[in-house]
Amino acid sequence: MSEYITTALQEEEIKTAQEKLAELIRSDFARIDRMKADEEVTDFSKLDTITIGVMPGDGIGPLIMTQALRVLNQLLAPEIASGKVKIRIIEGMTFERRVELGESLPADVLAACKECNVLIKGPFTTPRAGDKFPDGTPMPNMVSANSLLRRSLDLFAAVRPIKIPEKNIDWCFFRENIEGEYIWGNKGIQVNDDLAIDFKVQTKQGSERIARAAFEYARKNGKHNVTAITKANIVKLADGNFLKAVHHIGETEYPDIEVQERLVDAMTAKMADPEFTKGCEVFVLPNLYGDIVTDAAAEMQGGLGSASSSNIGNKYALFEAIHGTAPFLINHGRGQYANPCSLIRAAGQLMAHIGYGDRTAKLEKALDICCNTEKKLVVTTDKDGATSEEFTTYLLDTLKSL
Ligand code: NAD
Repeated sequence: MSEYITTALQEEEIKTAQEKLAELIRSDFARIDRMKADEEVTDFSKLDTITIGVMPGDGIGPLIMTQALRVLNQLLAPEIASGKVKIRIIEGMTFERRVELGESLPADVLAACKECNVLIKGPFTTPRAGDKFPDGTPMPNMVSANSLLRRSLDLFAAVRPIKIPEKNIDWCFFRENIEGEYIWGNKGIQVNDDLAIDFKVQTKQGSERIARAAFEYARKNGKHNVTAITKANIVKLADGNFLKAVHHIGETEYPDIEVQERLVDAMTAKMADPEFTKGCEVFVLPNLYGDIVTDAAAEMQGGLGSASSSNIGNKYALFEAIHGTAPFLINHGRGQYANPCSLIRAAGQLMAHIGYGDRTAKLEKALDICCNTEKKLVVTTDKDGATSEEFTTYLLDTLKSL
């Protein structure tokens, strides 16, 4: 027991905090029950029609989405013509409308998303404290629409491939997408002016399903190693249980796949060192570490403009670029010079997910030619480089020649 003697006011503050915490724990018990019941996985090969919902997003989003749709329309032309694949634009997910409604994720948008089988989206603006509109008025405080979407559609796995052929790097990251520091987002407890508490939550069910997704990917793609990245030496419960879940799933369901461990600080510092990542193929990480490590890996691959991410659940899946709305480019009139490869790669991941991996392979080949070997046009994000549209035309012509 602490020898500190609390005041009556502090005792009141403790009681309020305890009540808030109890409410959060109750809501998580309900979520755990839902996870236990959610076992049905969409089998795309059995669907008569696959509907791809499209949310262009904010900032550079609509500009690069136009290019990603050109790629989807060309590569899925036969399926679109036959009606097997339908592309549906979901309106109403602009920052302006969200501010007007005071909702991060308007109900009609979420309903439209649920009518689709898979989604592709551009980045959404989430204002930070102190962000202002161009006229100087402060932006409202809004919950991230991305995390609301991930939670509403139960997209528990963020899958981020990183390929750097010249460094012999072919990695795939499985970031747990819902729990960790993000789960109770804006519901931390400001006990009083002096004391703020946020939470980190890790459930057995949440850890096991992301571990299983990583191992399953490894098995299906001929990989032999899954590496768990945590800070379990310090964060003993949340990270410790995550690590335990990875070992448990590996030992009981995937004994043919080797399991390794790395600490998140060492991984971030030394990921460019081939000795440190020797044998690593598939990574599995809790939410926050996944956010940081995959951004660092994307930077190594060629900048945020080059990397995509998929958010996978049992029923729905959502594909996106990992970068944001690029306000700097928009504010400097250079939006049309943004790199569309991130979202085009996301379109590639989407096609593989719904059963058209042959088109994804073709797309990756064309991207490798256009971005690495031939490089007839290069996107520099400035006027000395190609526009998104010019680059995409080059990519589409290259695809036709394959
Ligand atoms: P950002 O990713 O928009 O920009 C970071 C840097 O990357 C900038 O220099 C930008 O110019 C550059 N960049 C980003 N995309 C690029 C592209 N396609 N081509 C070339 N360069 C590109 O990050 P930020 O400035 O921190 O965030 C801006 C807004 O985006 C914020 O409102 C944030 O909340 C939002 N955001 C959304 C998502 C998402 O929806 N998934 C992800 C990250 C940030």
